[in-house]
Amino acid sequence: MKNKIRKLDKLLKYNKSFVEGKKYEKYETSKDPDKKIVILSCMDTRLTDLLPKSMNLKNGDAKIIKNAGATIMHPFGSIMRSIIVAIYEFEVDEVLIVGHYGCGMCNLNTEDLLNKILQRGIPAETVTTLSNAGINILKFLHGFESVEESIQDSVSLVKNHPLVPKEIIVHGLVMCPETGKIDVVVDGYK
Ligand SMILES: [Zn+2]
Repeated sequence: MKNKIRKLDKLLKYNKSFVEGKKYEKYETSKDPDKKIVILSCMDTRLTDLLPKSMNLKNGDAKIIKNAGATIMHPFGSIMRSIIVAIYEFEVDEVLIVGHYGCGMCNLNTEDLLNKILQRGIPAETVTTLSNAGINILKFLHGFESVEESIQDSVSLVKNHPLVPKEIIVHGLVMCPETGKIDVVVDGYK
């Protein structure tokens, strides 16, 4: 850890001045999303500010869930759980699945990633043990070949989920990570 910038120290120092300077005041809102929407998007850093700004979303407008690739891995995993909570507890009536072009999860080289894991000192036996326990690491790490297809799959998963009410509208969008331009893959009103 020598010569390494301790990121948390720096962050906490800034945080103190943020709170003391009352810079939070312009973000004050309630926990209920004003626009009654939930967005599932990718953790890509280019979208951090660009996505809400390009959609005219301010603090308090939307529930935003993020992960690698804006993908729903499992119908009863944490992403679906968040969407269901948003619908029933926060009166959300539209769901937007927002992927983006140039996503790191598109054609992700899982063999290469597994090699990196091994090079960082995770024993090969661990991979074997997981494999024996029925966990296919390559399948677990796998992203998708086409962002449009991935978005379509996620839209139909939400739309057909047994715990999602029929009247919930689900859209599938793909964003340009440079300009914020949105292409509609699935128009939930149709
Ligand atoms: Zn991405």
